[in-house]
Parts: sequence; C-alpha cells; structure tokens
Amino acid sequence: MAMVNAFTAENLARLSAAEQALIKRRDKVLGPAYRLFYERPLHIVKGEGIWLFDAQGNRYLDAYNNVASMGHCHPKVVDAVTKQTALLNTHTRYLHESIIEYAERLTATFPAELSQVMFTCTGSEANDLAVRIARYVTGGTGIIATSLAYHGLTSAVAEFSPSLGEFVNLGEHVRTVAAPDSYRYSREDQMVKFGRDVEAAIADMKRHGIKPAMLIADSIFSSDGIVSDPKGFLKPAVDAIHAAGGLFVADEVQPGFGRTGETMWGFERHGVLPDMVTLGKPMGNGFPMAGLVVKPEIVSEFGAQARYFNTFGGNPVAAAAGAAVLDVIQGEGLQQSALEVGRFMLDALQDLSQEFKQIGDVRGTGLFIGVEIVSDRSNKKADADATTRIVNGLRERRVLISASGPSANVLKIRPPLVFSQANAELLLGELRETLLALRT
Ligand code: PMP
Repeated sequence: MAMVNAFTAENLARLSAAEQALIKRRDKVLGPAYRLFYERPLHIVKGEGIWLFDAQGNRYLDAYNNVASMGHCHPKVVDAVTKQTALLNTHTRYLHESIIEYAERLTATFPAELSQVMFTCTGSEANDLAVRIARYVTGGTGIIATSLAYHGLTSAVAEFSPSLGEFVNLGEHVRTVAAPDSYRYSREDQMVKFGRDVEAAIADMKRHGIKPAMLIADSIFSSDGIVSDPKGFLKPAVDAIHAAGGLFVADEVQPGFGRTGETMWGFERHGVLPDMVTLGKPMGNGFPMAGLVVKPEIVSEFGAQARYFNTFGGNPVAAAAGAAVLDVIQGEGLQQSALEVGRFMLDALQDLSQEFKQIGDVRGTGLFIGVEIVSDRSNKKADADATTRIVNGLRERRVLISASGPSANVLKIRPPLVFSQANAELLLGELRETLLALRT
C-alpha cells in the first residue's frame, strides 16, 4: 500500500542494536513486501484496554486501533474465546447454535431488509464474495470505487483498491471517483458532486462496453482522508448505480460496529440502504472474523447455484468472539460513548485550530476523526511533511495515531471505542506539545 506512515531504512541507525537485529531477521524471513509503522518502529508485546506496552514496559496510548475496538484483550472476549476453544472449534457443516444465534443478533442491528449473513475470515474475503455475488446478480462486471480506497488483498479486490499504489494495476472494468472533499467544496457541491462523478463513471463504462455490477464505498472514506459530512452525500451515488442496474456495497470494515457514534453502521448516517454490507476488523476484537450482510433476494439465486463454504469462517470460536463483542458494545454503551467522546474531541480540536494555523480542517464523527494539516490556510495547501512530523512526534510522546488522504496530510485518529474523555485530554495535550515543538 502507498503507506503514509512507514518506517524506512534511513532511520535504522536511530534504533537500538536489538531492534536493528530484529528488523534484519524480519526482512530476511518475511521478505520485502511488509511495512512497519513510524520512523522509530514499535516493538509491542502487550495490550490492555486503551494501552499498548513495548518490550521495555513503556506504555502507549493507542488512538489508532480499530481491530481491538472494545479495547485490547477485553476480558469478556478473551474469556468467551478461551472457553469455546477448550470446548469445540469446527466448521459450519455441522449444526451448532452459536453461529445461528450470533447471526440473528448481528442482523438485528441492521435495517430489516438486510437479514442474511455469510461469514468469512477477513474483510478482503467479504469484499471478494461481494464481487462474485454482484456479478452473478447483475450480469455486469464493472466496479466503481473511490480513488484512494482500500478494500482488500485478493486479486479481484486489489483491482479496485487504488491505495495499494501505482504499481498495483486497477482492473480494466474498474472506474475510480474522487471521494468527497468537504474541506475544499461547499456543502451544496458535496451533495451533488459525488453522485455526478458516479454517473460519469457509469457512462464511461458503458462507452467501453462494460456493464456496471457495483459501486463500493467505505462509508467513512478512511483511506481517502476521512469524510463524514454532509450527511446524505452518498444518496445520489447509490441512486445512480441502482438506476444503471448495479448494486451498492457498503464497506463497513472501518466505520462499523458503533464507531461513528450516531449509528451502528456508517451507511445509516447517509440514509441509504445497501444491497450488501461487508464487515471485518472489530467484529471479533482481534479474533479474525468477517462477514457479508445481504438482502435475501440478492443472494438467493447465487446461493442456490454456488455452494458456499469457508473452512474457518463462522466457526464456533468466531461466533463466541462476535457475540462477546456485541455484548460489550451494548453492555458498556460504547456507541454512545464514541459519540460523546468524539464530540468532545472534535470541539477541542476546533479550539486547537484557533491556536495552530497548520490545522486546516477538523472532521469526522464518533471516534473516527480526521485533522487536515496545511502549510497555508488561505490556499489549503496540504503539508504532508508536517503531518509526518506530527505523527512521529506523538509517537515519541507515546501517543499512537497515523495519517491518510490523497495528499497524506490528514491525521487519522481512530482509537478503540473504550477511549475515555481523560484519554482524549491526554492525546490533546500531547498534540498541543507536538505542534508547539514544530514551531521551533
Ligand atoms: N475494507 C477496508 C475499508 C479496510 O480498511 C480493510 C483493511 N484495512 C479491508 C477492507 C480488508 O480487510 P482485511 O485486512 O481483514 O482483509
């Protein structure tokens, strides 16, 4: 992936001898495709709630993790997984209550139309399955995604994941559209522009003899720079793909499971109804599980013709992890807490922008926040260099965030949902210190 916050070998000399040795061993055996975060990579050995601990026992505030979205090693999830692992782990070709019960509980959090779920192990697999179903149902092949989207790593999905970088080719049947930019366009523009761009992409496909199968969007546009508002801007785009006979797939791998605060699922904020919804990361709070939620009429024929089996997808341990995650979200009021702590953060970041002119824009919803860093507010010029310095400056202060966006200049703040107001105050204090240090 064209990764914003990646370690490069030029920083090797800044690391301890032990860290350098570990990187060498890693490179030797894992090969060249992997990346590490931060100029000085972290060697993390333990997680607990909102905290990560390195090999020396230093504690870091994790404001970036949405896999351990209920907090690292949440005792309820650990307990559920441990008990089920000791009892039975097998696949979905035997009758077992827990997967059915979990599927019932999960689909109950969706609009009534989205009432069936198929389980996978990764978000990539869920998106791959979405492509197969969309193509089967529509008879088309064309896919529209945003210009810096990431949807996964299978060969079909990498073809519409442009954030993998210029050397990973997009499919001939793929068209990209710019994600909405609420900082540089007016609200009115936003409400029509994305839809018009999707219409243009459909028209272009048709000119090339390609029938559209689907539009896919991450409903918080995580890798495109985080775009939450204005609410409703997805609607014209969804209408356009439907009018062209294609389906709309909401990729909820990032925004799902309460993170956006106002709603359980990101697409709901926009008042649209997807044909399929893909899920991942936080679903098992670290246990690898993912899924595809679908309208029954979309999957009925495909399901009758194409047998579905995923050896590890939907196993009893996954079902136990998933159920524990739902218990925690509901029992600990994490969606509401994400909303409240998120509002506090957004307000405080707005205040900080009065003091620091590098903060061009603050946006987001719940605990998915983007802070756009610019060198000049008058022309909104992106400042990727300052962004990297802020991300690494915070890392040195033991606060972990990252960055995203087409110009690599949007601070991406996406903590586990157990992030409290006190945690937010710590982050804000360290951010202020980091910004002050940039002035010198
Ligand atoms: N969709 C989105 C929006 C993602 O962020 C990711 C992972 N970063 C995926 C899909 C793929 O999920 P996985 O890594 O579990 O395959």
